[in-house]
Amino acid sequence: PPLYRQRYEVVREILKDKRWSPPPAKVVEFGCAELAMCSYFKQVPHIKEVIMVDIDADILDYYACRAGPLTSDYLNPRDNPLRVEVLCGSVADCDVRLLGANAVVCIELIEHLEMEIVGKLESTIFGFIQPEIAIFTTPNSDFNVLLKGMQGKFRHFDHKFEWSRQEFSDWTQKILAQYPFYQVEISGVGSPPKGSEDVGYCSQLAVFIRNHDYVPTLSEDASELYTTFRKYDHPVK
Ligand code: SAM
Repeated sequence: PPLYRQRYEVVREILKDKRWSPPPAKVVEFGCAELAMCSYFKQVPHIKEVIMVDIDADILDYYACRAGPLTSDYLNPRDNPLRVEVLCGSVADCDVRLLGANAVVCIELIEHLEMEIVGKLESTIFGFIQPEIAIFTTPNSDFNVLLKGMQGKFRHFDHKFEWSRQEFSDWTQKILAQYPFYQVEISGVGSPPKGSEDVGYCSQLAVFIRNHDYVPTLSEDASELYTTFRKYDHPVK
């Protein structure tokens, strides 16, 4: 499959991983864009609640219906209930509905943010939500030497930066220094061609895992800051 689908599949497999106990039931995706990840969340049987957030109201207007149940979902209802909410807002803001999320997903989001917003994203995710799992993907600029005509350029006009493996690793270490109740595992998606293994994967991937014995400190004065676009309850057996 193309790289963007490989990313969704890798994220889905991480969420399905047997090592999570209990398995994540509530998942938040920031920068959900066209809601393409939604159908992959639906393939994870233990997920009961998905909150999809994007700052772009136009994109959500157009695509939010993708979060709704399909005819096939009525023909083959799930064992577990599933509610999907589509909200318009920024990862820089801490909406109360994010609380209680067991996993947070940011696929190709951080490189679209100014550094100041990346800092706010860190406090929203690791300070406010404090999920058991946080998954990030972002381009690996070391891989760009393999992309023709890309020297000195970013892969997309809206990218504010593209990090090398060292820069991405430094960012994850900075987060661990501030939030020492997390560990991180770094890998990637999209293998390089034979003979170019030294450039690493096309996309970098970090999975932050909250320490088992850590008891989250949840904020008490949060309120609803995002706009609700859609709320769907999927058919259940
Ligand atoms: N995750 C999507 C996927 O895998 O299909 C692609 C993400 S797209 C490259 C980046 C998205 O981030 C855009 O839809 C953009 O509107 C959104 N975005 C940018 N700044 C944001 C912010 N501060 N909070 C939430 N979403 C933001």
